[in-house]
Amino acid sequence: MSKSIAINAGSSSLKFQLFNMPQEDVVAKGLVERIGLGDSIFSISYGDDQKFEVVEDIPNHEVAVEKLLEQLVALNIISSFDEITGVGHRVVAGGELFKDSALVDDTVIQQVEDLAEFAPLHNKAEAVGMRAFKHILPDITSVAVFDTSFHTTMPKKAYLYSIPMEYYKKFKARKYGAHGTSHRYVSRRAAEMLGKPIEELKIITCHLGNGASITAVDGGKSVDTSMGFTPLAGVTMGTRSGDIDASLVAFLMNKLNITDVNEMVEILNKKSGLLGLSGVSSDMRDVEAASETNEDAKVAVEIFVDRVQKYIGQYVAVMNGVDAIVFTAGIGENSKTIRARIINGLTWFGCDIDPERNDTRSEAIISSEGAKVTVLNIPTNEEVEIARDIERLRK
Ligand code: ADP
Repeated sequence: MSKSIAINAGSSSLKFQLFNMPQEDVVAKGLVERIGLGDSIFSISYGDDQKFEVVEDIPNHEVAVEKLLEQLVALNIISSFDEITGVGHRVVAGGELFKDSALVDDTVIQQVEDLAEFAPLHNKAEAVGMRAFKHILPDITSVAVFDTSFHTTMPKKAYLYSIPMEYYKKFKARKYGAHGTSHRYVSRRAAEMLGKPIEELKIITCHLGNGASITAVDGGKSVDTSMGFTPLAGVTMGTRSGDIDASLVAFLMNKLNITDVNEMVEILNKKSGLLGLSGVSSDMRDVEAASETNEDAKVAVEIFVDRVQKYIGQYVAVMNGVDAIVFTAGIGENSKTIRARIINGLTWFGCDIDPERNDTRSEAIISSEGAKVTVLNIPTNEEVEIARDIERLRK
């Protein structure tokens, strides 16, 4: 049987999921954390709720890949390395270069490294992960799947900022978006659930996790998305501010005596959003719970709902209509209250949520029978989308 592995490498972590293909069954999944930081934690879950976990020093991603493959054999999850015939690597920044997933060769790895100026921590780690797999399993199909590819269909009017054109021409300063693999997966799945060709549908996909982005998918193509040059833009997130007036950066640097602009950007990325507003947590569960008694937490949830509603409104205008709205990722999939609050403010567009149908964490249509706009809850599955890309691009 042929197995494919989806890899998501971060600066100090490596997540994986192993699939039987083409059945798409998950055989094992796991995580190596604290790579290069001492006391690395390596865990695998497999079979019927079986777990493996060890704490040991894993100095770099190459060693992490070696250990991972050896452990899959040791746990009898695979009988030998030969069973793995494909690997797919998630890459954060594909710039304008990668309009689709790509077969990995030395040139692609170099290009991923060159694009690191758009995602410094991520792209470098992802290139290391690709090299490690190429080294250990040189003959298998290796594919790079970019978070940005799905958004490369955006028209110029959507991806250009209203700043001097030469900054785009010289430096490629533009909107790239993110979460593309998730938006691609859930929009296709929505079309299947609606039983209609995606080419005929206008869909707004709301990926609401710790990072959050909204995408307008017209006829199966991303035509606009809320994240920008980096994932900092768009709606309020766990720790990111989302959209702000850029002059606020200068004003606050002055007030806070900050001289390094990167420090200010760090505040907007790591100390803002739900965390910064509520002072309680970046986790929506905590903020929702605190909002019962804490005014700041209450307003943080109101702002989150408000920003998502505004983007949905914008994208109805961008597409001149909407057939379906999809919720996905941690908050989108799990919080019926947030979904209901968002949709209950959009009834003028023909949205109507059915409270009973909305009482779910699984794949479901959650709007009422006969509502003009269909609202769906679709758990995202970026890993299976990566495994499918391996099959699609296999030579
Ligand atoms: P990441 O972007 O890190 O992959 P996830 O998609 O896992 O994030 O989403 C994490 C977010 O989902 C957190 O804010 C968490 O609070 C939220 N979440 C998970 N379960 C629930 C729930 N039952 N109700 C509200 N929020 C939830």
